[in-house]
Amino acid sequence: MQITQSHFGGCLCEAIRFELASTPLHHIICHCQTCRKAIGATRVAWAVVHIAHFKFIDLLPVEYESSFGVFRTFCGKCGTSLTYRQAENAETIDITIASFDEPALFAPTQEIWLDDKVHWEIQNHTLAQVFKDCE
Ligand SMILES: [Zn+2]
Ligand SMILES: [Zn+2]
Repeated sequence: MQITQSHFGGCLCEAIRFELASTPLHHIICHCQTCRKAIGATRVAWAVVHIAHFKFIDLLPVEYESSFGVFRTFCGKCGTSLTYRQAENAETIDITIASFDEPALFAPTQEIWLDDKVHWEIQNHTLAQVFKDCE
């Protein structure tokens, strides 16, 4: 995979900053119930990235095991949700697109877990539609 310029981001209070030294592999919107609760939003945009290209720059966020083997992180001071990682998948980590300094760069290409979607959330039919998890 080709390494391109770095992308930076972090939490609202700026205590936690991160660097992604490549471009994301996928950009998705997740409607699943666990993401909703974890983030406190009715849909969540995620950038799926190579874990080897991602690092927290200084302070580390708080980590929480939201399901068996699923680890989410957030800033312990301001609460911004930052990452999602599955222990069984050592290759990738997901970053909340909203926490990037330039979220506009990462337009989602698919919606997943539409089976869980809150009915009044508007479905974007220009995106690939996945009713459960991505493959
Ligand atoms: Zn913070
Ligand atoms: Zn989800």
